[in-house]
Amino acid sequence: MRNWLSFPILLLLSAGAACQATAPLPADLSHPDSGGSADAHGQIVRNIEAYEAAAENLKPGDQIILANGVWQNFDLVLDAVGTKDAPIRLTAETPGKVILSGQSSLRLAGEYLDVSGLVFRNGYTPRGEVISFRRDSDHLARNSRVSQTVIEDYSNPDRRQVDLWVALYGQNNVFEHNHLSGKRNAGPTLAVRLDSEASQQNGHLIRYNYFGPRPVFGSNGGETLRIGTSPYSLTRSGTVVEHNYFDRCSGEVEIISNKSGGNIFRSNTFFESQGTLTLRHGSDALVENNLFDGNGAAFTGGVRIINPRQTVRNNYFRQLTGTRFSAGLVVMNGIYDSPINRYHQVDGAVIEDNIFEGVARIELGEGADAERTAPPINSVFRNNTVTGKPGEPVFRVQSSMDGVEFTENTSTAPAPAEIAYGFSIVAEGSVEADEKRMDPQVYGVSREKTGVSWYPKADAASPFAGGRDIAVAPGTGTLAVAIAAAAPGDTLVLAPGNYTEPTLIELAIPLTVRAADKTQPPALTFERANLFALSGNGALRLQGLSVSGLKAPDSTGNSFITTSARISSRNHIVEMLDMRFEDFAVNRSFSVLKADKGTFFDRISIASSNFRNVSGAILKLDAETDNFGIYSADVVDISDSEFEQVTEPVVSVYRGGTDESTFGPTVRIRTSSFKAVGAGKAPILLLHGVQNLELSANSTDSALGAELVITTGTPVLSVTDNVANGIPNGEFLQITDLRKGQ
Ligand code: CA
Repeated sequence: MRNWLSFPILLLLSAGAACQATAPLPADLSHPDSGGSADAHGQIVRNIEAYEAAAENLKPGDQIILANGVWQNFDLVLDAVGTKDAPIRLTAETPGKVILSGQSSLRLAGEYLDVSGLVFRNGYTPRGEVISFRRDSDHLARNSRVSQTVIEDYSNPDRRQVDLWVALYGQNNVFEHNHLSGKRNAGPTLAVRLDSEASQQNGHLIRYNYFGPRPVFGSNGGETLRIGTSPYSLTRSGTVVEHNYFDRCSGEVEIISNKSGGNIFRSNTFFESQGTLTLRHGSDALVENNLFDGNGAAFTGGVRIINPRQTVRNNYFRQLTGTRFSAGLVVMNGIYDSPINRYHQVDGAVIEDNIFEGVARIELGEGADAERTAPPINSVFRNNTVTGKPGEPVFRVQSSMDGVEFTENTSTAPAPAEIAYGFSIVAEGSVEADEKRMDPQVYGVSREKTGVSWYPKADAASPFAGGRDIAVAPGTGTLAVAIAAAAPGDTLVLAPGNYTEPTLIELAIPLTVRAADKTQPPALTFERANLFALSGNGALRLQGLSVSGLKAPDSTGNSFITTSARISSRNHIVEMLDMRFEDFAVNRSFSVLKADKGTFFDRISIASSNFRNVSGAILKLDAETDNFGIYSADVVDISDSEFEQVTEPVVSVYRGGTDESTFGPTVRIRTSSFKAVGAGKAPILLLHGVQNLELSANSTDSALGAELVITTGTPVLSVTDNVANGIPNGEFLQITDLRKGQ
């Protein structure tokens, strides 16, 4: 692999730039003494004015070196023309020690430019892009490279604001050995744009990059990589994406959204990433030698095929749990004479020499409905090896497979009758099934070979782990004081007694608040409309407390926990264990947790808790009423809990619209009881647009059942062993279906 250290360090600057480099330092730009690192040929640039002067008359072979330190609000533009043999370089004094913060961005225009060693952190771009291979629509970059550069958590604080972290325009550009991690706001992490002829047939190379975790976004717009858009999807792009590592890139159903022609996806690793490499628009893609390793994580998938002449060969798919749009392999049904932005028929697909190991599902003819009626044609499924989950069917066939020839495949699970002719069935663990096994030399790329060596890759630690225990004594405002002094991951341990909080607590870090003694629950009350307002990295684990709403103000719409869209781009987590909530009823619609529009929870879980006399909802997750496919919480998990005398639905979820870009919301309610919930009018649970629902072993008493409104997709339902007002397996779930043609 190429390594930046192997490049010769050239300290060449034009004379004008060298003069300017002596300009005084801005106050916010600190740097260690560079130790006279400039040689006879040039100097390091130490501030924005000096950079701009240096960048004015660059000649082939020139190099600008940014001094170590934090560069605030740097609207960095490199617009120059180098040559193949003498590119113009923009580098860091020390790779990783040049930090671009605040409202910084980088734009490249011209030819043979080579940028490396920068870190974007602690801020977000004021423009549409952080790194752009164009200055503006008339000035693009060609034959240029960005490498050894980091963008970490450089997300707009308003998660609804759309931007790109990297936008490739022009032709023959290279983006390699970069580290992009933690994008949380709307828009793909990296996009190849084809919006003018000068950016088509582009031959870009995207390789050896580390794409770090991208959390679930909760609507369309959470792609990690997008190549093209539907208006240009019949245009050839010719981009090569190889040797990249996608680490938990779970923003939405498309990890990669391929929307143009002739792209190659080769030797990439997808680890625990929800969704699929989706060949959404455009034709003639080649997908080979990749490793799709779900590692058993939820909603992990492989490749989703749509459009003509797609080839998927010699890939390794393992431990992928996804079904439907996120199955290990998905061959979609198309639409005859499809509009450019819908689903072109699969025609001429070649799916061969792949290994599917422990894959939950291969979907054939997926998405067949009143609109998607065109089955795949002129296609072949050849010499693939399939081992599924023991005892479970792997294949699901949803439309005619007459247009696909199945031949020379082996499988441990019987294939459905209409395709069985193309499979030899082998026993699980047999020699035949074990013949092909993962060889890292052949499939994917190792994590260590990607990104940069000097910046740590993400770990999987729990946000609540790793902190100290801090003892908190009863009293007024003692909790707020302790929280103000706490660090991420800390646990506040409350001694038995009474706690009254007169102020709102803004929580931007993950914290645990728990009882010191489980048998003597601390009694907590609060005097504002909310006690906790989550922002930033705010996450809360509550355990063993008894909370009363009696001292809250006499106004409508109070909630114990709330969020704020203005400052809350990050995903939140709330866990409640052994909690007791009582008398949230001073006025109407007093909730326990209410999500503000534009905020998002990865998970809300409630276990072994008790809720009594609440005038609102327990979880109010219904502010996203625009029908754009946006919602407020990815997973709601309730078990072993009791709800009594709750006026509104215990859980109210709204996920509107027909967009198919998300796996959630998921709601699981188990072994819980609902007594006098809904005031005789509202259902115990109002679940609008939920995609995965489990209701098991619950009971109602003097309450209506749950209500599910189906808006899009094919929700996965599991409703078992519930007791409805004393009747075992009585009517527990009412379904309203708003889908077209259903
Ligand atoms: Ca998408």
